[in-house]
Amino acid sequence: MSERAGVLIVGGGIIGTALAWALAERGLRDVLVVDLDLAGVYASSELNAGGARATWWQPVNVEACRLTLDFFRRHAGEFGFRERGYLWLYEEAALFATAREKRALQNAANLGVELLTPAEVRARFPLLDRGLEALVGATFSPRDGLVNPNAVRAWFRREARERGVVFRDRDYVMGVKTERVAGRGGSLRRVAAVDVVRVKRDGAGDPSGVLREILTTHRVPTSAIAGEERIECDVVVNCLGAWSALLLAKLGVPDLTEPVRRQISLVDVHREDLAPGVSLDALGMIVLASGLYFHPEGPHVLAGYSTPGEAPGYDFDYDGSDFFESEIWPRLAARASSFERCGHVRGWAGLYDVTPDRSGIAGAVGGFANLFEAHSFTGRGVMQSYGIARAMAALVATGRFEEVDLAPLSRERFTDPARWVEEDLHI
Ligand SMILES: Cc1cc2nc3c(=O)[nH]c(=O)nc-3n(C[C@H](O)[C@H](O)[C@H](O)COP(=O)(O)OP(=O)(O)OC[C@H]3O[C@@H](n4cnc5c(N)ncnc54)[C@H](O)[C@@H]3O)c2cc1C
Repeated sequence: MSERAGVLIVGGGIIGTALAWALAERGLRDVLVVDLDLAGVYASSELNAGGARATWWQPVNVEACRLTLDFFRRHAGEFGFRERGYLWLYEEAALFATAREKRALQNAANLGVELLTPAEVRARFPLLDRGLEALVGATFSPRDGLVNPNAVRAWFRREARERGVVFRDRDYVMGVKTERVAGRGGSLRRVAAVDVVRVKRDGAGDPSGVLREILTTHRVPTSAIAGEERIECDVVVNCLGAWSALLLAKLGVPDLTEPVRRQISLVDVHREDLAPGVSLDALGMIVLASGLYFHPEGPHVLAGYSTPGEAPGYDFDYDGSDFFESEIWPRLAARASSFERCGHVRGWAGLYDVTPDRSGIAGAVGGFANLFEAHSFTGRGVMQSYGIARAMAALVATGRFEEVDLAPLSRERFTDPARWVEEDLHI
């Protein structure tokens, strides 16, 4: 059996879903999204920290995030967007010097980023009553904040469906069929069809571990196969996040990205332990430039730490209380006496798809007549979702970027280190 799609989006995480919406919003009526698991049990879009900031070091990242944050602001109630700011604490003079220099770019985009001395940090953030002598300075970006990423994705999906987009769940893309066509500069390849395996349902979540097995081994167990199908298409967009390189490999496109595990702990803070005058309620994201970040999350605190040298791989194992006790608690307690007795609630692990310069990849794939891509947004996919989707929809529909020029994010940049889009404020 075979099906047809005008635009086939492979991967229904926040990026693929936002793109489907943006295409439908432009009037495209034949958009199909396929995903192994639309609930996204292992998708980064469901496992992230909900931070949203436009304060980056590269204009294209600032712009894509700025547009996205404006969009979040317009739907603040629905998306749980809280404009509470990002506070960055620096211990390294060289890094802080660059942060100061990048303020010009950020403030040209009206982000209002302030420089704070350690004494000002202490006065404005009474929670942070320890380790201030180690700081060389801080920045505070008041227009950044926190968002509920699941609500954002649900909105994109609902609005896309209302505009006619079809989402197919339990479709695992296994193969790609290409053909040669004449292009302007000579012969090009064209993706004619994508082959999917229909995977059986075993209830909500992943009770038998089949989804996890498929997403970590990239094979579908025979017992889980419900059928196979070929989907013919005019255009394909690779929105597979940390799995994007697997599709590219099937197409013979060399790729430099790596899936890397990132862990998050939920932390229990006893309200009676809060130092006098300290409240967690109004806080946004607090980041130690050395790798720890945290923010209030319902009754708890959500804290993540990017372990340096984490080996690449499709690893979803959360290291549990060991991770909390060795990486999270000491760093929190070193900054705030209120965290001295905090406890571990639970946590999880998800994947960053990391590029050599830590910026995402978006655009048309060279050598192909109809293949596009938008993936590998490391720790930035939610906060760029709207900007990337709008720009990519314009590219797919008209051949040109509009609103934000994503040309710097083309994969061609990796052929020349001078064109890399380096981001160092990356956690
Ligand atoms: C711990 C952590 C914290 C983060 N914190 C933040 C943050 O604070 N702010 C922020 O903006 N970003 C953050 N991120 C990054 C953000 O979550 C990602 O950049 C974003 O979710 C990527 O979305 P995506 O749609 O590209 O990929 P995903 O959401 O991973 O979607 C990819 C989809 O592809 C599907 N799939 C895979 N292979 C196949 C196949 N062969 N066939 C069919 N379907 C397939 C999967 O089921 C999945 O649904 C964080 C990420 C992690 C892991």
